[in-house]
Amino acid sequence: MFKRTLSQNFLIDPNTIEKLVNSTSIDPNENVLEIGPGKGAITRKLASRASHLIAVEKDRDLIFDLEQIENAQIYEADVLEFDLNQLRNYAPMKVVSNLPYHITSKILKRLALHKNLFKSIYVMVQEEFANRLILPPETTLTAFLNSHYNITKLFNISKHCFYPKPNVTSTFIELKPNNLPMEEEFYTFLNYGYLHKRKMLYSELKHHYDEELLDEAFQKLGLDEKERIQKIKPDLIFSLYKLLGKLTK
Ligand code: SAM
Repeated sequence: MFKRTLSQNFLIDPNTIEKLVNSTSIDPNENVLEIGPGKGAITRKLASRASHLIAVEKDRDLIFDLEQIENAQIYEADVLEFDLNQLRNYAPMKVVSNLPYHITSKILKRLALHKNLFKSIYVMVQEEFANRLILPPETTLTAFLNSHYNITKLFNISKHCFYPKPNVTSTFIELKPNNLPMEEEFYTFLNYGYLHKRKMLYSELKHHYDEELLDEAFQKLGLDEKERIQKIKPDLIFSLYKLLGKLTK
């Protein structure tokens, strides 16, 4: 039994499960959050290695079996509503997940907004999504993630390793946080630039900031007023955001 509405594609290939867990290098002092443990294929191995494992699963029908796993604390919840701040006592944790693909972006944004809780994030995503993450950003979310994390593709996983078989190849990726402070407003700022990413960032920002302030900030950072957001390095964009401060329009 599986539920398509919850993106249930369970990992069934033992070698892949082993490889995936090994690549997270969890040591006995580390706490782990697993999102969507499903039938527990990864959960059992994570729980036997970690100091403490917390798993959040939405499907009530899977909870009873998951609760039998030793050293695993199971929450029946929607991870998009679950209050991640209640994990503060276990932080910094590692996150491991074979993500429910229909909400990949939402989950990654949510994890990023709680950047301080997680020392690294290991997630399985669709190959195409992984490719978009490591290319120059095309969207607000990929720019936001690339600003805050060093993202590495670890390995691909064939669709034959799952039941039911998905339509696409998957990729296991690692997101390692950098030192950039997490500020939710920065997402909004990036959004101004990516909404019309083919236009000049300067003219897009004119809708939100006074021209004088913009001129000063662009000059200070040596930024060309004709530049599009995709051509500007993430750390420079963050500096611009900090220099401009609160929205004036
Ligand atoms: N970890 C298991 C594995 O690798 O075999 C299952 C992975 S399956 C791709 C995704 C899992 O996420 C399913 O167990 C599904 O029920 C769960 N899930 C889907 N939406 C969820 C949500 N909003 N919050 C928590 N879990 C969710």
